[in-house]
Amino acid sequence: MLIDQHGRQLRYLRLAVTDRCNLRCRYCMPEEGIAFAPREALLNYGEILYLCDVLAELGINKVRLTGGEPLVRRDLPLLVRGLAELFPRLAMTTNGVLLPRHLDELTAAGLTHYNLSLDTLRPDRFFAITRRDEFAATRYALDELLRRQYPVKINVVVMRGKNDDELADFVELTRASAVEVRFIEAMPFNDDDGNHDVFIAYADMLERLRSTYPNLEQTPHQEGSAVTFRVPGYRGRVGIIPAYSRSLCGSCDRLRLTPRGTMLNCLYSTQGLELLPLLRQGIGRDELTDLIRTYVHGKYATGHETERHEQRGSIFASMTSIGG
Ligand code: SAM
Ligand code: SF4
Repeated sequence: MLIDQHGRQLRYLRLAVTDRCNLRCRYCMPEEGIAFAPREALLNYGEILYLCDVLAELGINKVRLTGGEPLVRRDLPLLVRGLAELFPRLAMTTNGVLLPRHLDELTAAGLTHYNLSLDTLRPDRFFAITRRDEFAATRYALDELLRRQYPVKINVVVMRGKNDDELADFVELTRASAVEVRFIEAMPFNDDDGNHDVFIAYADMLERLRSTYPNLEQTPHQEGSAVTFRVPGYRGRVGIIPAYSRSLCGSCDRLRLTPRGTMLNCLYSTQGLELLPLLRQGIGRDELTDLIRTYVHGKYATGHETERHEQRGSIFASMTSIGG
């Protein structure tokens, strides 16, 4: 088992398979991109599956593919097939642009849950947020997921003056569909990303939601990174993710693996366990298992604690290098 110094058992791996992306969301990546990893600096599928086999034995039972945009990594369904043999629950977070053409193959390969990132329902705003003209593709992906009645969550990064007047439009998606819409605090990660200027805190979002839906009720069963609510009579749910306020750290059961093979205990970690060189030097399975156990044991109580102990200046160049 993977138990940290605060007694939490880690069961959930967020696996970033690439740092590349076909969009350039303003809160995530600069127009020119970042210093993307060359192919040889990425974990290959054999290395990922070997590591995941070790992690499955250590009690990880849920994996989410993320990135960058996971669907820009070549032959992703091959990786999904291998992971599905290890994990009963296999999810992916995607911007959806390439999803429809791969959806059947991914589902057949074993992907069970989909999170779609879509920050606006208005075509004219999509370009302003993502710097790419792909609204129709992403919206089509959402329609296809709903039509197939797959378990779907929609991630919405809420930004003052950009999309914060659309909260109710998103909530209305939960009226007839069993979808979960999750409003995310925009995380500032360096001084240039502009996220401070558009930031809206969890409490502010909740107040706005309650002013439109006074009978919004918190759902009895709470788990994961969102606090969830329901409008009575609506089929779906509404979540708020305090990504920056970090009020849910106490129940965190997450571990992260970056595309370059660094294991991280926290979204706010800057000093992780670099596994790629060890794997390429042929580290034995027992030694690898011990190293991972020891690293995980040092997980700090909260993201604030991690920041205090590990931060040097800005957090990281982009969310794409860590997987969100
Ligand atoms: N490309 C995929 C996508 O956009 O769904 C997966 C990777 S993306 C880094 C994962 C999630 O992180 C997305 O829902 C995205 O909106 C969110 N994200 C990226 N940058 C963020 C930031 N600065 N603050 C909050 N959420 C952010
Ligand atoms: Fe790409 Fe996702 Fe970042 Fe947008 S949030 S730039 S889609 S990795």
